Amino acid sequence: MLSRKQLQRYSRQIMLPQIGETGQERLGAAKVMIVGLGGLGSPAALYLAAAGVGELHLVDGDHVEISNLQRQVLFKTNHRGKDKAQVAAQQLTAANPEIRVQAHCRMADAAWLAGFLKEGNFDLVLDCTDNLDIRHVINRVCRDAKVPVIMASVRGFSGQLVSFDFRSAGSPCYACLFPPQDRDNDLPEAENCSTVGVIGPALGIMGSAQALEAIKLLAGLTLSSLNRLQLFEAGTLEWRTLALPVSKTCPVCV
Ligand SMILES: [Zn+2]
Repeated sequence: MLSRKQLQRYSRQIMLPQIGETGQERLGAAKVMIVGLGGLGSPAALYLAAAGVGELHLVDGDHVEISNLQRQVLFKTNHRGKDKAQVAAQQLTAANPEIRVQAHCRMADAAWLAGFLKEGNFDLVLDCTDNLDIRHVINRVCRDAKVPVIMASVRGFSGQLVSFDFRSAGSPCYACLFPPQDRDNDLPEAENCSTVGVIGPALGIMGSAQALEAIKLLAGLTLSSLNRLQLFEAGTLEWRTLALPVSKTCPVCV
């Protein structure tokens, strides 16, 4: 049962037939991990906190730098030098004190992620990192733990969004799409935002799209990015969609 305070705070989404009180209760009972609190994680985390997702775990080992502020909207100039996960947790709690937010000031690695996901009973992971190696780790660990994942990335003016629901047997995975050893499909690890540049609002759009898909998944609605690579071009404001089958040569699935 939702309290009067909750009915008031979330009234604008509860009045939507797609969400309703049942959807709101599902959001409130959900436990979500957000890996990376940068340009994607900032809007994604803000929207999920505002929407009343009951428990958020924020994973980031970085500190706030002045060059982050062009796109990482959770942080202000006076946060320079502070732990991103810690500041993000404070900002989200200020936005919505009704939810639980926990900061993990560390980089995600396979052993820690696997252990934490196993014991944590998570409903969903958002991959908001800008590192291809970590993305493959998140893919593998979420698949093993049967936890759905929503991934996004932006390079320059181009964004990608894709979701996998590893609770269903036979789901494709990120490695079906981009095999780990095949570096031609993506930029090398070193070429992230710091070397190739990125336009801030494109991260806002893709991070918001991750939050949107997360709310849909948690509320039991159909995802538009499930097993489908959604490509966004900020230069033309155009979206393209590619369906993803399971790859018969995927090193993770096969
Ligand atoms: Zn696969």
